[in-house]
Amino acid sequence: MYTVGFVGLGRMGWPMARNIVAAGFPLVGYDADAEITVDFVAENRATAAVEPADFAAVDVVVTMLPTGRIVREALLDWGDGGIAAHLQPGSVLVDMSSSEPVGTRELGGRLRGRGIGMVDAPVSGGVEKATDGTLAIMLGTDDAAASIERAVQVIDAMSARIFRTGPLGSGHAMKALNNYVAAAGFTAGCEALNAGREFGLEPEVMVEVLNSSTGRNFSTEDTFVKHVLTERYDTGFTLGLMTKDVGIAADLAEELGLPAPVCAAVHARLRDAAEGIGGSRDHSAAITHWAKHP
Ligand code: NAD
Repeated sequence: MYTVGFVGLGRMGWPMARNIVAAGFPLVGYDADAEITVDFVAENRATAAVEPADFAAVDVVVTMLPTGRIVREALLDWGDGGIAAHLQPGSVLVDMSSSEPVGTRELGGRLRGRGIGMVDAPVSGGVEKATDGTLAIMLGTDDAAASIERAVQVIDAMSARIFRTGPLGSGHAMKALNNYVAAAGFTAGCEALNAGREFGLEPEVMVEVLNSSTGRNFSTEDTFVKHVLTERYDTGFTLGLMTKDVGIAADLAEELGLPAPVCAAVHARLRDAAEGIGGSRDHSAAITHWAKHP
C-alpha cells in the first residue's frame, strides 16, 4: 500500500482522509490548525505531521485546501522549502482542492522539475458524499501512467466515479465551470424566492412548483428543501468558497478573451453577500442578505 500524506483536514478533508485510512493506506495527516490534526490522529489510525520533513516517506500527497495559492505555499514555501523539498522522485501530488487551473499548471511544472508527478482531482458531492466515499472526481494530468496509477488507487478510496478531463489543470477548469453553473442556479433561485415572497407567494409552494417544473436545479431540489425552507443554512459549503469558485470561472473566461457577463453578475452578487454576512457563513444563508439588500 502506498503511504499517503493528507494536507487540509477541514469539512471535506477530514471525511476524505478517514476513508483513505479505512481503505488500509498508512496516512500522515496535517492541518494548519494543530487542534484539528491532533483530533484527527486521535480518532483515526494515522500519524500527525508537524513539519514538511514529516512527508519524506510519503508516496502520494493529497491536498484539500481552501485555494490553489495555499496549495502552492504548502508544497513550495512552508517551513524549509515546502513539502516538495522532502518528497522522493516518483511521488505524486493529488490536488483535490478547487484550485485555479493556471496556478495548477505552474505548480505542476515546478514539481516535474524535481521528478514529482501531479494530478488535479477536484471533487463534486459535498460533505455528504465525502463522508460516504462517493465523490465524483474530475481528473487532469500530463503525467505518465505510473503517476495516474498511484493517484487513482488512493482516489478510489474516496470516490464513486472518476472523469478523465484531459491535461493538467483541466479538472480544476471543469470544477470551476460546474460550480459557476451551480451558483447561477442558486442565485437565480434565491432571487425568484425573494421576489415571490414579496408578491405574496408561499416559499414552500414555490419550491414545490419549481421542483415539478422546468425551473428545478440542484439548489431548488436539495439546498432550498433542506437548508433554506428549514432555515438550517448548513450545507457545509461556505459562501467564501462558492464566491472563490465563481471568481475562478470568471478569470478563466477573461484569460480566454471570452465574454461571460452572467458569470460576472453572479460573482458580483455572491461577493456582495459575502461582504454583508461574512464569507465563513454557509452559502445558503446568502438568501437572507439578498432579501434585505435586493
Ligand atoms: P474548510 O475551510 O472546511 O477546510 C480547509 C482546511 O484547510 C481547514 O481545516 C484549514 O485549517 C486548513 N488549512 C488552511 N491552510 C492550510 C495550510 N496552509 N496547511 C494545512 N492546512 C491548512 O474547507 P472545505 O469546505 O473542506 O473545502 C476544501 C476545498 O474543497 C476548497 O477548495 C473547496 O472549494 C473545495 N470543496 C468544498 C466542498 C464543500 O461542500 N465544502 C465541496 C467540493 C469542493
